[in-house]
Amino acid sequence: MSESRALPLFDAERELLLPRKKPDMVTWAESHYVLPRETAQMHGPWSRDYVPFWLEPMRWWSSGSLRQLNAAACTQAGKTEFANIALGYAADVDPGPFLIVLPTEDVAKKRLATRIRPLFRTCPRLLGKIGGDLANFNIGKETILNDMILYIAWAHSAVTLSDVPVRYVVFDEPTKYPAAVGADTDPIRLGKRRQRGFSLNRKTLVCSSPVLEDDLFWSQWLSGQPYDWWVPCGHCGRWHQMAWEQVELDKDESGRLLAAAEYAAGGHARYVCPHCRRPWSEYERWESVTRGRWLTVGATIGAEGQETGGLPPGANRSIRIWAGMLHPIFQTIDDLAAEWAAAQEAKHTGNVKPLQDFITNQLGTPWKETARATPVERLRAHMGKYQTGVVPEGCLFVTRGIDVQLDHVYVIDVGWGDLSEAWVLFFARIDCGDTERLSNYGPVQDYLRSGWPLAADPGTRRHHTLASIDCAYRTEEVTAFARQCQRQKVPIVPARGSDHVKRGITRPFRDANKRILCWDMNVNYFKNILHAMLFVASEPGPGYLHLPRDSTDELLEHLSSEEAREIPYKGRRLIVWVKKQGRPNHWWNCLVHARHAAELVGVRWLDPAAACSRTKPAGRRMPKRPMRTKY
Ligand SMILES: [Zn+2]
Repeated sequence: MSESRALPLFDAERELLLPRKKPDMVTWAESHYVLPRETAQMHGPWSRDYVPFWLEPMRWWSSGSLRQLNAAACTQAGKTEFANIALGYAADVDPGPFLIVLPTEDVAKKRLATRIRPLFRTCPRLLGKIGGDLANFNIGKETILNDMILYIAWAHSAVTLSDVPVRYVVFDEPTKYPAAVGADTDPIRLGKRRQRGFSLNRKTLVCSSPVLEDDLFWSQWLSGQPYDWWVPCGHCGRWHQMAWEQVELDKDESGRLLAAAEYAAGGHARYVCPHCRRPWSEYERWESVTRGRWLTVGATIGAEGQETGGLPPGANRSIRIWAGMLHPIFQTIDDLAAEWAAAQEAKHTGNVKPLQDFITNQLGTPWKETARATPVERLRAHMGKYQTGVVPEGCLFVTRGIDVQLDHVYVIDVGWGDLSEAWVLFFARIDCGDTERLSNYGPVQDYLRSGWPLAADPGTRRHHTLASIDCAYRTEEVTAFARQCQRQKVPIVPARGSDHVKRGITRPFRDANKRILCWDMNVNYFKNILHAMLFVASEPGPGYLHLPRDSTDELLEHLSSEEAREIPYKGRRLIVWVKKQGRPNHWWNCLVHARHAAELVGVRWLDPAAACSRTKPAGRRMPKRPMRTKY
């Protein structure tokens, strides 16, 4: 056929015959997606500044090579928006059978009413696809759009749809799905089975705020190739991954968190660049987030923006991303700090729910419930043959732990032997009167001057090598009392639990009046050790803590009053010790102090041959009833 005989084409005809260049999802959203006024915090035409960290995942989604996107994100991080845009994009640009799986029928109805209907209502092109009538949507069965079928399902109804082939599947909030539906298979596996006919162009979105580390969502999330979100600092230009640890919180003079309301009032918390340590204003944070980038694990990014290292992107990709609380503009650092402080306050009263909510909803990381359990029964097995008030053989030195309360103090004496074998020698509550008055500390001083007879040689008394007294409460009085003791050569140090000591064990500091050396203890460290000695070690010997035959139920209650939770957090594990609801923990606290004193004495480097302790001939005897105890 010669050139001259070809029929001329009009432009419109040519455009019809040429393969259509598809817009990517970001471009599509900018021209067709409107945030509905009634549900979204921000409304009006969608903008790429709105959720900058979704832009790349959106391009991956529409690029063809991505098969599965697993997104762990905090609430309000735009997951639902992403799913909605993916639906609109599929219906308009890249049609294929589309399934959305929500946790329950109610959630599915709500999603249809608040997101999917507004999506079609506000976009004329999409409205045309459903015949111009929003009443044509169905739930739990198919909805026919012009050139594709949409299924809005929930975990259970997904079973009934198990024989329909689909190309797109959105698993929304799988943490709220039942673990198994129908014939012992989970909804995710069921949904994916239906994509078999679309092995070359299927797309799966799995998105949720993570809840528990061993749930359906998290195991699915882990299956993707990891990407991290990096942002540049507006001050120094260097890049880092945003994290909650970079939020600096003002503390009071004793190093404790302020009240939640103070953080909420503003000015007491700030995001700080980990490189140049300069604080970011909210605007600077927003600016940095807008310039952020997703990098594969192992990659770093230079000040000029050049990427190095990392994994090469695969062809048939499954990707996982994590969008924590620092990315969205929806919450200010002040609000987050207030929520954190409130969660910490609640934790101290034994309620960990707010902390769990903060970790899963705000940080977007899952929570693991595996506690370091402290069952009281296990303590009974530790009750040995010896009585309180006698130093059993093998004890090389004695330390004391003192917990100061309103008008009484709790005390515990521990004898330490070779390789950290230890014996609780004495425990008591000393009612001394208002601890705000230094003159009331007499009974405590008497107690500190006392010693215990050796089982092998009752004529010899062993005095304590060091005592550690809690100065977190009544700081001024306790430090004054400790100074008075030190002047009289009674070995004692004031100490308190502190969040500052993270990597070390204990750290000295001068008290406000610079008169005495106090210690900040890493309480978690000591509690972990004591937990191992009391609840893990089952045979007397190294690393085992003996309890006396006459231990009371109350002592055992105190010693089992706390338990540890493990929280996976950005690849690390945080051990959080929490008080069991309504349980006093004073002797447990005393035990922490006794172990702290032992640490300062050097229990870990103890040489049994060289170890000597303060023993005195039985000169000064313990008075018969030196103190009032409850028993
Ligand atoms: Zn910087």
